[in-house]
Amino acid sequence: MRDVVVIGGGLSGLAACYKLEKSNLRYTVIEVKRRFGGSIKTYAERGFVMDAGSFLLRSLADEPWLAELGLCEQTNPVTDDAFVFRDGAESLIQALANPLQGGRLMRMAVSSVGRWRWRFTICLENGLVYDAGALILAVPARYAARILLNLAPEAADRLDDFRYDSIWRVSLGCRADALPPSIADKVDSICRFIWSTDAPSRVPDRQHRLLQVGVRAAPHECPESVVRDTVARLGLSAEPIVARADHWPEADLRSRYDAAHGETIRSLNALLPAGLTLIGSDYCLDAPTVKGIARLNERLSMGRLAAQAAEDYLKARRRR
Ligand SMILES: Cc1cc2nc3c(=O)[nH]c(=O)nc-3n(C[C@H](O)[C@H](O)[C@H](O)COP(=O)(O)OP(=O)(O)OC[C@H]3O[C@@H](n4cnc5c(N)ncnc54)[C@H](O)[C@@H]3O)c2cc1C
Repeated sequence: MRDVVVIGGGLSGLAACYKLEKSNLRYTVIEVKRRFGGSIKTYAERGFVMDAGSFLLRSLADEPWLAELGLCEQTNPVTDDAFVFRDGAESLIQALANPLQGGRLMRMAVSSVGRWRWRFTICLENGLVYDAGALILAVPARYAARILLNLAPEAADRLDDFRYDSIWRVSLGCRADALPPSIADKVDSICRFIWSTDAPSRVPDRQHRLLQVGVRAAPHECPESVVRDTVARLGLSAEPIVARADHWPEADLRSRYDAAHGETIRSLNALLPAGLTLIGSDYCLDAPTVKGIARLNERLSMGRLAAQAAEDYLKARRRR
């Protein structure tokens, strides 16, 4: 039997695994996709390095943690408050995942979890069942609702009420002279934010620019038409050299992040059995961005705290 099973190999789940590894606990991470990272994904094409999901981090984002991962030298400041990773946000995922020696089950979906005496049972969609002393659930609310349906039905019911706004991330690599004089003026209710860079690690040379645009468009649009519309809205004078559009159905939790939100999260946690921790962007107490700057560091610390809670829980059980 494993000490801990972590369900979900996004930023939060991997941060938990990283800490479990340091604590010498036996753990397994179960990820439904063929890759780790969840909504953090970096692509390289024709000299452009594009982030398909989140990419901007606060400069105060847990610097000791970044140093431990060997990432301090890999950051590029964007403003006084924020930085991006030179080679894309997936650098963070790789730095967390590479040292992991624990078990990993990739392309395996967890369908439900239960409890047998003091152990958790983790049922996969292919029928396999695993045991663990403690459980860390690091998936968005709509998946957590289904996974917890039998074990914690009231919590599942509340998780099922979470609602999201979707967003498209459009990445465009183009010649610098194809851009209008002030690209920042193009931000509006559809192009929600635009980040433009000619940082050497992101573009082939200084004659080129990378644009990362957050676009509100209908989920059923096809990526090609989202790219076409975005190019037109930005007023590019030439076709981009590379272009991609990624749709994220659960990009932003619809929440006011006020006292009521805090109470929702706290009362949700109170409905979970001891030994099970729910982590991830949907369960943070603070808004995911402050003045547009990402707070991914909060996900990292959630992962670490969950791993510590699992360790404390297992120690207390063994003492009984
Ligand atoms: C376009 C975009 C922009 C964003 N910008 C910001 C930002 O500015 N600031 C910010 O704080 N956050 C932002 N986010 C959210 C940000 O990406 C997250 O905070 C962070 O990456 C979430 O990590 P996570 O581990 O909590 O969840 P996820 O990245 O969603 O990871 C969950 C993982 O669980 C896996 N999984 C799901 N169901 C199962 C199952 N049944 N069995 C096994 N595995 C399963 C998924 O495949 C995934 O890998 C953004 C997201 C997007 C898409």
